[in-house]
Amino acid sequence: LPEQEAFDIEYWLLEEAKLQRMPKPKPMVGKVALVTGGAGGIGQAIAKRILADGGCVVLADIDAEALASVGAELSKAHGKDHVRGVACDVTSEASVIAAFDKAALEFGGVDILVSNAGIASAAPLEDTTLELWNRNQSILATGYFLVGREGFRQMKAQGTGGSIVMIASKNGMVASNQATAYCAAKAAEIQLSRSFALEGAPLGIRSNVVNPDAVIRGSKIWTGKWSEERAAANKIDEGDLEAFYRERSMLKRSVFPEDIAEASYFFAAEHLSAKSTGNILNVDAGNLAAFTR
Ligand code: NAD
Repeated sequence: LPEQEAFDIEYWLLEEAKLQRMPKPKPMVGKVALVTGGAGGIGQAIAKRILADGGCVVLADIDAEALASVGAELSKAHGKDHVRGVACDVTSEASVIAAFDKAALEFGGVDILVSNAGIASAAPLEDTTLELWNRNQSILATGYFLVGREGFRQMKAQGTGGSIVMIASKNGMVASNQATAYCAAKAAEIQLSRSFALEGAPLGIRSNVVNPDAVIRGSKIWTGKWSEERAAANKIDEGDLEAFYRERSMLKRSVFPEDIAEASYFFAAEHLSAKSTGNILNVDAGNLAAFTR
């Protein structure tokens, strides 16, 4: 009998070792995510993260050229059956509805919505023209409302719950004397997410926010005028912006698109965050926790 026992143990150890070597199931298989601003820096990183775990992605973006090239790159890496692109202006109700129609037609619906398309604009209160104010509200607050509402409707109609992830900003939590309209619009996105969480809860639809601090590398926002203005406002060279934000942060670390993608993935994935809704995750290297500068 001891011999038999030893044999049994050896047998099960070998079986266990075999299991460890087997490829793990990918948690996003069968899931479809629509990512607005999917041709931009953060949106693209989020799409890649979901694709890497077996999901399908619809990239929705106003920039048709960037959409074509990012779509081609992601299709090449993850298979063309997993990636679709749709030209979409988030300020237009018809365009947003058409994007969700495309997701339904191509993949049968949407399980995850990442509302991310956006802009950055700098101006203190007195320099904020009505035009600048309206532009911020229209792309950010209204855009997130339209996209969120259509995603919500589609998830409700499917009857299988879902996850909405809103990429807002540190500036939705605190004011900045360099971006009055942007701060107000980002705060609106955060409050919208709470409404989606409240109304979605009985339907199994969750809604959460990821707040990035400055994500410089990879972001198209941080090219051209915006970058120039941030450098001038902080009296440094444009090339030193990333180091400037890093040194100013509590952790002394830069935030990258991939960091925002990981945080977004957490809220997107049912197996990780089934019990989180109406929440906010700041990916800010500690900046919102204390006044450090
Ligand atoms: P990005 O410019 O690289 O990407 C934004 C994408 O949104 C672009 O591809 C652009 O074409 C698209 N877009 C703009 N207007 C649109 C519209 N009307 N309809 C559809 N698509 C539109 O910028 P990013 O850094 O990836 O920013 C993504 C989100 O993260 C934005 O909402 C931004 O406000 C937020 N954010 C960024 C930072 C940062 O420092 N990069 C910090 C905090 C928050």
